[in-house]
Amino acid sequence: MEDKRDDHREDEYERYCYLCRRPESKAGKLIYMPNNINICQECMQKTFDSFAGSNMQFLDLSNMPNMSRNQFTPVDDIPRKQKVKRKKEQEKKKETAEMTLSSIPAPHEMKARLDEYVIGQEYAKKVISVAVYNHYKRVITDTMDDIEIEKSNMLMVGPTGCGKTYLVKTIARILDVPLAITDATTLTEAGYIGDDVESVLSKLLAAADNDVEKAERGIVFIDEIDKIAKKKNTNSRDVSGEAVQQGLLKILEGADVEVPVGAGSKNAMVPLTTINTRNILFICGGAFPDIEDIIKARLNKQASIGFRSDLKDKYDKDENILLQVKMEDLREFGMIPEFLGRLPVLFALENLDEDMMVQILKEPKNAILKQYQKLLSLDGVDLRFDEAAYRAIARHAMEKKTGARALRATIEEFMLDIMYQIPRDDNIGRVTITGDYIEGTGGPILEMRGVLALENA
Ligand code: ADP
Repeated sequence: MEDKRDDHREDEYERYCYLCRRPESKAGKLIYMPNNINICQECMQKTFDSFAGSNMQFLDLSNMPNMSRNQFTPVDDIPRKQKVKRKKEQEKKKETAEMTLSSIPAPHEMKARLDEYVIGQEYAKKVISVAVYNHYKRVITDTMDDIEIEKSNMLMVGPTGCGKTYLVKTIARILDVPLAITDATTLTEAGYIGDDVESVLSKLLAAADNDVEKAERGIVFIDEIDKIAKKKNTNSRDVSGEAVQQGLLKILEGADVEVPVGAGSKNAMVPLTTINTRNILFICGGAFPDIEDIIKARLNKQASIGFRSDLKDKYDKDENILLQVKMEDLREFGMIPEFLGRLPVLFALENLDEDMMVQILKEPKNAILKQYQKLLSLDGVDLRFDEAAYRAIARHAMEKKTGARALRATIEEFMLDIMYQIPRDDNIGRVTITGDYIEGTGGPILEMRGVLALENA
């Protein structure tokens, strides 16, 4: 029974040539032989040629593409994660039917869905909703004929922990498209230690369950993009900075890229498949530390011309100066113009203030405190927080300067005792976390089940 199901699953994956290891879609129709050995016609021909040329001497395996004598392992040893899914006519129809223009939420609907999860960042949510809508409109209708619609790849600038990754994750979930999140710091120029830029697409393919067509409509988020800025004053070869930007140009624009399946880099043993990146949406994000100074310098230069020079230091106090970022600031930072040109949608996210932190604690559908409340409610305990507690948590988190990411760490710190002690005592029916408890000057308010029952009666 188990085997049958497995056989059926095998059918969804491409067969590979026993010798050169190319999938059937690349190598052409395979010749099936007993014992699950499949050979492509090219390798078969080479085999015959080598028999003829060597007067029927031993088969010379080194003749085969990508093959040497000691690599003679059966093709079915290729792990499933390294096989690409077969293209099926029927499935193809179903998939394209799935994504129609009406199934893509209009920008205002998309923004409303984002509002349920992401607090603040109004401008960013608006820009991303419009850009994503336009992108998928272009993908679905394939409007490339007379007026070519440009790809809406995006570049997000924002301090750490302000919701960049979270925004992209939420968008991918709303649209139900595969998403790959990678870190630009791990990328290096091809041939050096580190991941090639193609590894980004390998991740997307894995996220799409090795289905090439699904991956070709996915989203790739490249975080920490500021780390591949051109290095200043360096004499050594810049294999992880400018060279990576150059390497990314091709895939950002739209090209057929040979991608290793199930691995980060190409080598002889890894099967390859081709992915067209024309319809893949690339979103890059980075904190761009100290770019505020570049923006300020630009604004001050403008302001110092003529009578406005007295306002020179007005930008110094502006908390959200980042929102005024322009392409020229990023160029100054070390991003090359060709790279920036392929990310036409540029926007910034704002710093989270205390009010926003409090909202993040309370409001999103999957807010962290709601998760704790749910956990304790399974023990029959009602967990509450008073307003001072919310404020105190937000203040503590703000001190760490890692944005909303610090909220979870702060909460976990003081919830540990609560989560440890409360299930110990069956009599506790309600716990109220107070501001004093967070500040370390008091304890939580505990109410007993019996008393609560009397109150309710
Ligand atoms: P970064 O901007 O560094 O990519 P993340 O998006 O990873 O930051 O944010 C870390 C976590 O903080 C998220 O998983 C999310 O739970 C929370 N978070 C950050 N910003 C917001 C926001 N604006 N609204 C709701 N939650 C947020």
